[in-house]
Amino acid sequence: MVPGVKLVVLGKQGAGKGTQAVALSHHYVVPHIATGDMLRAHVRGGTELGHKAKSIMDSGELLSDEMIIEMVAERLWSADVRARGFVLDGCPRTVHQAKMLAEILDVDELDAALDIEVPTSEVLARLAQRRVCSDCGTNYSIASPPRINWTCDICFGEVVQREDDTEEAIRRRLELYERETEPLIEWYRENELLVKVEGVGSPDNVLRRIIESVEEHRGGRASL
Ligand code: ADP
Repeated sequence: MVPGVKLVVLGKQGAGKGTQAVALSHHYVVPHIATGDMLRAHVRGGTELGHKAKSIMDSGELLSDEMIIEMVAERLWSADVRARGFVLDGCPRTVHQAKMLAEILDVDELDAALDIEVPTSEVLARLAQRRVCSDCGTNYSIASPPRINWTCDICFGEVVQREDDTEEAIRRRLELYERETEPLIEWYRENELLVKVEGVGSPDNVLRRIIESVEEHRGGRASL
Protein backbone atom coordinates (compact mmCIF):
# COMPACT_ATOMS: atom_id res chain seq x y z
CA MET A 1 0.00 0.00 0.00
CA VAL A 2 1.21 3.53 -0.80
CA PRO A 3 1.64 5.42 2.46
CA GLY A 4 -0.27 8.71 2.85
CA VAL A 5 1.47 11.95 3.78
CA LYS A 6 0.94 15.22 5.64
CA LEU A 7 2.89 17.80 3.75
CA VAL A 8 3.07 21.60 3.64
CA VAL A 9 4.50 23.05 0.41
CA LEU A 10 6.30 26.40 0.46
CA GLY A 11 8.04 28.30 -2.33
CA LYS A 12 7.91 31.63 -4.11
CA GLN A 13 5.22 32.38 -6.66
CA GLY A 14 6.25 30.57 -9.83
CA ALA A 15 8.51 28.08 -8.01
CA GLY A 16 6.32 25.23 -9.28
CA LYS A 17 4.49 24.79 -5.98
CA GLY A 18 1.10 24.13 -7.58
CA THR A 19 2.44 21.73 -10.22
CA GLN A 20 4.47 19.75 -7.70
CA ALA A 21 1.68 19.76 -5.11
CA VAL A 22 -0.74 18.19 -7.62
CA ALA A 23 1.85 15.55 -8.62
CA LEU A 24 2.62 14.81 -4.95
CA SER A 25 -1.07 14.43 -4.13
CA HIS A 26 -1.32 11.83 -6.94
CA HIS A 27 1.83 10.05 -5.79
CA TYR A 28 0.72 9.77 -2.14
CA VAL A 29 -3.00 9.46 -3.01
CA VAL A 30 -4.06 12.31 -0.74
CA PRO A 31 -6.13 15.46 -1.40
CA HIS A 32 -4.40 18.56 -2.72
CA ILE A 33 -5.55 21.51 -0.61
CA ALA A 34 -4.64 24.76 -2.39
CA THR A 35 -5.86 27.95 -0.72
CA GLY A 36 -5.50 29.97 -3.96
CA ASP A 37 -7.66 27.45 -5.88
CA MET A 38 -10.23 27.34 -3.06
CA LEU A 39 -10.44 31.14 -3.02
CA ARG A 40 -10.74 31.34 -6.82
CA ALA A 41 -13.61 28.81 -6.61
CA HIS A 42 -15.31 31.10 -4.05
CA VAL A 43 -14.85 34.09 -6.41
CA ARG A 44 -16.35 32.12 -9.34
CA GLY A 45 -19.21 30.85 -7.15
CA GLY A 46 -20.01 34.41 -5.98
CA THR A 47 -19.94 33.46 -2.27
CA GLU A 48 -19.55 36.03 0.52
CA LEU A 49 -15.93 34.98 0.99
CA GLY A 50 -15.39 35.25 -2.77
CA HIS A 51 -16.68 38.84 -2.80
CA LYS A 52 -14.34 39.77 0.05
CA ALA A 53 -11.38 37.97 -1.52
CA LYS A 54 -11.52 39.16 -5.15
CA SER A 55 -10.03 42.68 -4.91
CA ILE A 56 -7.46 41.60 -2.29
CA MET A 57 -6.28 38.76 -4.53
CA ASP A 58 -6.20 40.89 -7.69
CA SER A 59 -3.92 43.42 -6.01
CA GLY A 60 -1.59 40.69 -4.74
CA GLU A 61 -2.30 41.37 -1.04
CA LEU A 62 -2.92 38.65 1.56
CA LEU A 63 -6.29 37.77 3.06
CA SER A 64 -6.59 37.85 6.83
CA ASP A 65 -5.07 34.91 8.68
CA GLU A 66 -8.43 34.20 10.35
CA MET A 67 -10.32 33.93 7.04
CA ILE A 68 -7.74 31.56 5.61
CA ILE A 69 -7.42 29.33 8.66
CA GLU A 70 -11.20 29.02 9.01
CA MET A 71 -11.43 27.85 5.38
CA VAL A 72 -8.49 25.45 5.69
CA ALA A 73 -9.60 24.04 9.05
CA GLU A 74 -12.94 23.04 7.57
CA ARG A 75 -11.16 21.15 4.79
CA LEU A 76 -8.70 19.49 7.19
CA TRP A 77 -11.59 18.06 9.21
CA SER A 78 -13.13 16.24 6.25
CA ALA A 79 -13.08 12.45 6.12
CA ASP A 80 -10.76 12.01 3.09
CA VAL A 81 -8.09 14.21 4.66
CA ARG A 82 -8.35 12.48 8.03
CA ALA A 83 -7.98 9.08 6.38
CA ARG A 84 -4.70 9.56 4.47
CA GLY A 85 -3.38 13.09 4.92
CA PHE A 86 -2.95 16.01 2.53
CA VAL A 87 -0.66 18.21 0.48
CA LEU A 88 -1.26 21.75 1.71
CA ASP A 89 -0.32 24.38 -0.88
CA GLY A 90 -0.48 28.14 -0.17
CA CYS A 91 -1.01 27.92 3.57
CA PRO A 92 0.53 28.73 5.97
CA ARG A 93 1.97 31.88 4.45
CA THR A 94 2.75 33.74 7.69
CA VAL A 95 4.20 32.61 11.02
CA HIS A 96 0.87 33.54 12.60
CA GLN A 97 -0.98 31.19 10.21
CA ALA A 98 1.51 28.41 11.06
CA LYS A 99 0.85 28.89 14.76
CA MET A 100 -2.92 28.94 14.23
CA LEU A 101 -2.61 25.81 12.10
CA ALA A 102 -0.57 24.12 14.83
CA GLU A 103 -3.59 24.52 17.12
CA ILE A 104 -5.72 22.47 14.74
CA LEU A 105 -3.05 20.08 13.64
CA ASP A 106 -0.19 19.25 15.97
CA VAL A 107 3.14 20.28 14.36
CA ASP A 108 4.45 16.78 15.09
CA GLU A 109 1.73 15.33 12.91
CA LEU A 110 3.30 16.90 9.81
CA ASP A 111 5.76 14.75 7.85
CA ALA A 112 7.57 17.73 6.37
CA ALA A 113 7.39 21.35 5.23
CA LEU A 114 8.82 21.38 1.75
CA ASP A 115 10.56 24.50 0.43
CA ILE A 116 10.99 24.52 -3.36
CA GLU A 117 13.87 26.86 -4.11
CA VAL A 118 14.05 28.77 -7.40
CA PRO A 119 15.97 32.05 -8.05
CA THR A 120 13.81 35.18 -8.39
CA SER A 121 15.02 35.85 -11.97
CA GLU A 122 13.71 32.40 -12.99
CA VAL A 123 10.31 32.78 -11.24
CA LEU A 124 9.75 36.17 -12.91
CA ALA A 125 10.34 34.62 -16.33
CA ARG A 126 8.04 31.68 -15.50
CA LEU A 127 5.22 33.91 -14.18
CA ALA A 128 5.19 36.06 -17.33
CA GLN A 129 4.65 32.86 -19.33
CA ARG A 130 2.18 31.19 -16.94
CA ARG A 131 -1.35 30.36 -18.09
CA VAL A 132 -3.93 28.48 -16.05
CA CYS A 133 -7.19 26.62 -16.60
CA SER A 134 -9.97 28.85 -15.28
CA ASP A 135 -11.95 25.76 -14.24
CA CYS A 136 -9.65 23.12 -12.75
CA GLY A 137 -6.53 25.23 -12.13
CA THR A 138 -4.11 23.11 -14.19
CA ASN A 139 -1.00 25.13 -15.02
CA TYR A 140 0.33 25.67 -18.55
CA SER A 141 2.77 28.14 -20.07
CA ILE A 142 3.29 29.82 -23.39
CA ALA A 143 6.15 27.36 -23.90
CA SER A 144 3.96 24.31 -23.14
CA PRO A 145 0.34 25.20 -23.99
CA PRO A 146 -2.60 22.78 -23.94
CA ARG A 147 -2.95 20.60 -27.06
CA ILE A 148 -5.96 22.41 -28.54
CA ASN A 149 -6.36 26.18 -28.78
CA TRP A 150 -6.03 27.19 -25.09
CA THR A 151 -8.59 24.58 -24.01
CA CYS A 152 -7.57 22.58 -20.94
CA ASP A 153 -6.33 19.04 -21.75
CA ILE A 154 -7.87 17.75 -18.51
CA CYS A 155 -11.31 19.38 -18.17
CA PHE A 156 -11.73 21.37 -21.45
CA GLY A 157 -12.01 24.63 -19.48
CA GLU A 158 -10.65 27.90 -20.86
CA VAL A 159 -6.91 28.43 -20.29
CA VAL A 160 -6.15 32.07 -19.44
CA GLN A 161 -3.64 34.34 -17.75
CA ARG A 162 -4.47 34.72 -14.04
CA GLU A 163 -5.89 38.13 -13.13
CA ASP A 164 -3.24 38.51 -10.42
CA ASP A 165 -0.36 37.67 -12.78
CA THR A 166 0.10 41.36 -13.69
CA GLU A 167 3.58 42.80 -13.24
CA GLU A 168 2.50 44.92 -10.27
CA ALA A 169 0.62 42.16 -8.43
CA ILE A 170 3.50 39.72 -9.00
CA ARG A 171 5.97 42.25 -7.55
CA ARG A 172 3.71 42.75 -4.52
CA ARG A 173 3.27 38.98 -3.96
CA LEU A 174 7.03 38.41 -4.14
CA GLU A 175 7.62 41.27 -1.67
CA LEU A 176 5.08 39.76 0.71
CA TYR A 177 6.63 36.33 0.27
CA GLU A 178 10.00 37.70 1.37
CA ARG A 179 8.52 39.59 4.32
CA GLU A 180 5.83 37.19 5.57
CA THR A 181 6.66 33.71 4.30
CA GLU A 182 10.46 33.52 4.49
CA PRO A 183 10.42 33.83 8.33
CA LEU A 184 8.09 30.84 8.27
CA ILE A 185 10.82 28.76 6.64
CA GLU A 186 13.00 29.44 9.70
CA TRP A 187 10.09 28.49 11.95
CA TYR A 188 9.78 25.10 10.23
CA ARG A 189 13.56 24.63 10.38
CA GLU A 190 13.45 25.18 14.16
CA ASN A 191 10.67 22.59 14.35
CA GLU A 192 12.86 20.15 12.36
CA LEU A 193 10.35 19.83 9.57
CA LEU A 194 12.06 21.75 6.80
CA VAL A 195 12.99 19.90 3.60
CA LYS A 196 14.64 22.13 0.97
CA VAL A 197 14.65 21.03 -2.65
CA GLU A 198 16.15 22.73 -5.71
CA GLY A 199 13.23 23.59 -8.02
CA VAL A 200 15.12 24.21 -11.27
CA GLY A 201 14.88 21.44 -13.88
CA SER A 202 12.10 19.49 -15.56
CA PRO A 203 8.94 18.98 -13.45
CA ASP A 204 9.56 15.19 -13.43
CA ASN A 205 13.11 15.59 -12.16
CA VAL A 206 12.04 18.05 -9.49
CA LEU A 207 9.27 15.66 -8.39
CA ARG A 208 11.74 12.78 -8.11
CA ARG A 209 14.07 14.94 -6.02
CA ILE A 210 11.19 15.99 -3.75
CA ILE A 211 9.94 12.45 -3.13
CA GLU A 212 13.47 11.23 -2.35
CA SER A 213 14.03 14.11 0.07
CA VAL A 214 10.66 13.69 1.80
CA GLU A 215 11.21 9.95 2.22
CA GLU A 216 14.75 10.50 3.49
CA HIS A 217 13.43 13.02 6.02
CA ARG A 218 10.62 10.68 7.07
CA GLY A 219 13.04 7.77 7.43
CA GLY A 220 15.35 9.95 9.53
CA ARG A 221 12.52 10.97 11.85
CA ALA A 222 11.18 7.41 12.13
CA SER A 223 14.55 6.10 13.25
CA LEU A 224 14.93 8.72 16.00
P1 ADP B 1 0.51 32.66 -5.62
O1 ADP B 1 1.27 31.63 -4.85
O2 ADP B 1 0.92 32.77 -7.06
O3 ADP B 1 0.48 34.01 -4.95
P2 ADP B 1 -2.07 31.44 -4.88
O4 ADP B 1 -2.95 30.84 -5.91
O5 ADP B 1 -1.47 30.53 -3.86
O6 ADP B 1 -0.99 32.22 -5.72
O7 ADP B 1 -2.85 32.59 -4.09
C1 ADP B 1 -3.51 33.64 -4.77
C2 ADP B 1 -3.93 34.72 -3.77
O8 ADP B 1 -4.84 34.17 -2.80
C3 ADP B 1 -2.82 35.34 -2.93
O9 ADP B 1 -2.12 36.37 -3.61
C4 ADP B 1 -3.61 35.87 -1.72
O10 ADP B 1 -4.31 37.05 -2.02
C5 ADP B 1 -4.66 34.77 -1.51
N1 ADP B 1 -4.15 33.73 -0.58
C6 ADP B 1 -3.94 32.41 -0.87
N2 ADP B 1 -3.49 31.75 0.21
C7 ADP B 1 -3.39 32.66 1.20
C8 ADP B 1 -2.97 32.61 2.56
N3 ADP B 1 -2.52 31.47 3.12
N4 ADP B 1 -3.02 33.74 3.30
C9 ADP B 1 -3.45 34.89 2.77
N5 ADP B 1 -3.87 35.04 1.50
C10 ADP B 1 -3.84 33.93 0.71
